[in-house]
Amino acid sequence: KTFEELGICPVILKAITEMGYENPMPVQEEVIPHLLSENTDMVALAQTGTGKTAAFGLPVIQKINIKTNQPQALILSPTRELCLQIASDLTDYSKYIDGLKILPVYGGSSIESQIRTLKKGVHIVVATPGRLLDLMNRKMVKLENVNTVIMDEADEMLNMGFSDSINAILAEVPENRSMLLFSATMPAEIARISKKYMHNPKEIVI
Ligand code: AMP
Repeated sequence: KTFEELGICPVILKAITEMGYENPMPVQEEVIPHLLSENTDMVALAQTGTGKTAAFGLPVIQKINIKTNQPQALILSPTRELCLQIASDLTDYSKYIDGLKILPVYGGSSIESQIRTLKKGVHIVVATPGRLLDLMNRKMVKLENVNTVIMDEADEMLNMGFSDSINAILAEVPENRSMLLFSATMPAEIARISKKYMHNPKEIVI
């Protein structure tokens, strides 16, 4: 299948074609149509390098309503480096979409500047769990318009001790959202999280 056949819209197609993406990778064939449909949960066993950032990034961007100046997608990742990489990739994919605002938030950098940007309004938040929870506790990030939650490298987030933060965050996002969890391994804690927060998730192995 082509990206077009998977449902990717022309403005995004133009950007990824320029980046040299000709054909979807297997994880993209599985995830893109699934995430473009409504309220669908998924657990994907996938390593890095398989194309998972575009698999969730393209449909996430496509689903954003620019006119709603509030976070609509939340992407959780274990490290500052991965946050920045995801935000950078999403910025590339949305090169031809006017007004789309993506904010990486992570610890170890000025929270004040992240707060200033949040106050102006962002559509996609890419966050490490600890810093996001800090912002939530300060009432500086509104999650009531979030309709998609992506957990990238979920096993790494648990290894880094983010289990409590993840649970606190997921308890605050609206009930009727799509949730997609990526992990390279499937420890029991991941199964527990997916059971607690997802509804009949489709499971795929890449
Ligand atoms: P990721 O697993 O998301 O880190 O992606 C691994 C690498 O594959 C990155 O350098 C992407 O830019 C690249 N990539 C992702 N999707 C495609 C595609 N459909 N065609 C060519 N390269 C891709």
